[in-house]
Amino acid sequence: LSDRLQGIFSGLKSKGRLTEDDINAAMREIRMALLEADVNFKVVKSFIANAKERCLTAEVLDSLTPAQNVVKIVLDELTVLLGQTDSGLVLSSRIPNVIMLVGLQGSGKTTAAAKLAYLLKGKGHSPLLVACDVYRPAAADQLQTLGDEMGVKVYRGDGQDPVKIASEGVRFAIDNLRDVVIVDTAGRLHVDEEMMEEAANIKAAVKPDQILMVVDAMTGQDAVNVAQAFAEKVDFDGVIMSKMDGDARGGGALSLKQVTGKPIKFISAGEKPDSLEPFHPDRMAKRILGMGDVVSLIEHASKIQAEEIEAETAERVQRANINLNDFLEIKKQVSKMGGISKLISALPGGDKAMAQGQVDTGALDRMETIIFSMTKAEREKPELLNGSRRQRIAAGSGTSVQEVNQVMKQFNETRKMMKKMMPAAANAGRPTKKG
Ligand code: GDP
Ligand code: MG
Repeated sequence: LSDRLQGIFSGLKSKGRLTEDDINAAMREIRMALLEADVNFKVVKSFIANAKERCLTAEVLDSLTPAQNVVKIVLDELTVLLGQTDSGLVLSSRIPNVIMLVGLQGSGKTTAAAKLAYLLKGKGHSPLLVACDVYRPAAADQLQTLGDEMGVKVYRGDGQDPVKIASEGVRFAIDNLRDVVIVDTAGRLHVDEEMMEEAANIKAAVKPDQILMVVDAMTGQDAVNVAQAFAEKVDFDGVIMSKMDGDARGGGALSLKQVTGKPIKFISAGEKPDSLEPFHPDRMAKRILGMGDVVSLIEHASKIQAEEIEAETAERVQRANINLNDFLEIKKQVSKMGGISKLISALPGGDKAMAQGQVDTGALDRMETIIFSMTKAEREKPELLNGSRRQRIAAGSGTSVQEVNQVMKQFNETRKMMKKMMPAAANAGRPTKKG
C-alpha cells in the first residue's frame, strides 16, 4: 500500500526532490553514525556502497519523500544484515538439553546463565545451573545466589575441575529430572589458549546442544576479534549481547554478525532476571543508526499506512476509485505526523529545502479548506463539480476558482496515475467491506 500512498503524496506536488548530492550527504551522515556506533569500517564501507546504489534509483528520488525513503532503505538493509532469523532460544529434543555459555571474563556469562534459567523456568522447564568457573572463588557463589533467588538448583561439584563438574552436572540433571542444563564457564580478561582449551574440553565432555557466546555490548569492535577466536577454537551457535541497558549503540553486533556469520539470539539488558529479550534486528538497526527522531517519524508513517487509513479507503485506493474524502484522510494523516513542514524538515536535506522555500506548506491546508466546502455528494462524486459548484466552493472556502481547479486537477491526476499504475482497477467490481 505504501507505494500507492506515496503516489498520492506526489500527486499533491512536492518540490523537495533530492539530488545525488543530497544522497551523498545523507550517506556521509549514515557512515558517521555507523562508525560512531563502533561498526567495523570494512563493514561500513560495503554497507554504504550497497545502500547508496539502492537509494539512487528513480523510484526513490522521484517520490515525494525521497529522504524518508532513503532512511527506510538504510534501516531495511541494516536489519537484513543483522539477521532476521534464529532469534530466541531453540531447544533440541535431547533431554537433558545442554546449553553452554562462553565468553570473556566480565562479559556477563553468569548473569546470562541465570537469566536463561529464569526464562526456561517461565516456559515450564526445570533447568539446572552448573558452575564451572573454578578460578574466582566468588563465581560459584554468585551463580548460587542468583539460582537461589529464582528457585533454580545450582550444581557446584567439587569446585576444582571444570570438565568434571560439567559432566557431573549433566549426570545430576538426569538423576534429578532436570530437562535443561546451563553450563556457566570461566572466562579470562583476554583471549588465551588455556581458556580456549578448557572450553573445548568441556564441550567435548558434555556435547552441548548449543553454545552461546556472551558479548559485552560496550566492547564494540574488540568483540569481533574475541568472537573470531572462539569461532575458530570452540565454535558457537549464537550470541547473547549483554549490557544493552547501557548507552552502547551496539554497532559491535553488526560487525559480529558480518564477520562471524553467527546469529545474535538475545539481548541482555539489566540486572533483573527477566531482562533477557529475544534479539530484534529492526530495533537494533535503529539503535545503531541513532536516528530516533527520523526513525520514529518513519514508524509513524508506516503505521499510518498499515493501520490507520481506514480499510474502506485502502480498498478504494486499491481499485483506483478514490474520491475526495480519501484526499482529506491523507491530509489528516500528514497533520497527525506533525504537518508537512515537520515531516520534511526532519529528513536529511529537508531543512535546506524548507529554507529555500521549495516546499509549499500551505498547499495541504488550502486543499483541506476547499474540500471541506464541498457537499458530501460532491466529495464522493467529484464528477459533479461543474463551474457553478466550483464558484460556490471557492466563495465558501475563501479561495479562488483557480485554486479549486488546482485541487481538482491534482485529484484527477492522482486518480489517473493510480489507474495506470494498478491493474487492480480490473477488480473494480470487487465488493467493499461496507458493501
Ligand atoms: P561473567 O564474568 O562473564 O560471568 O560476567 P558476570 O555475569 O559476572 O557479569 C559481570 C558484571 O556485569 C556483573 O557486575 C554483572 O552484574 C554485570 N552485568 C552482566 N550483564 C549485565 C547487563 O545486561 N546489564 C548490566 N547493567 N550489567 C550486567
Ligand atoms: Mg561468571
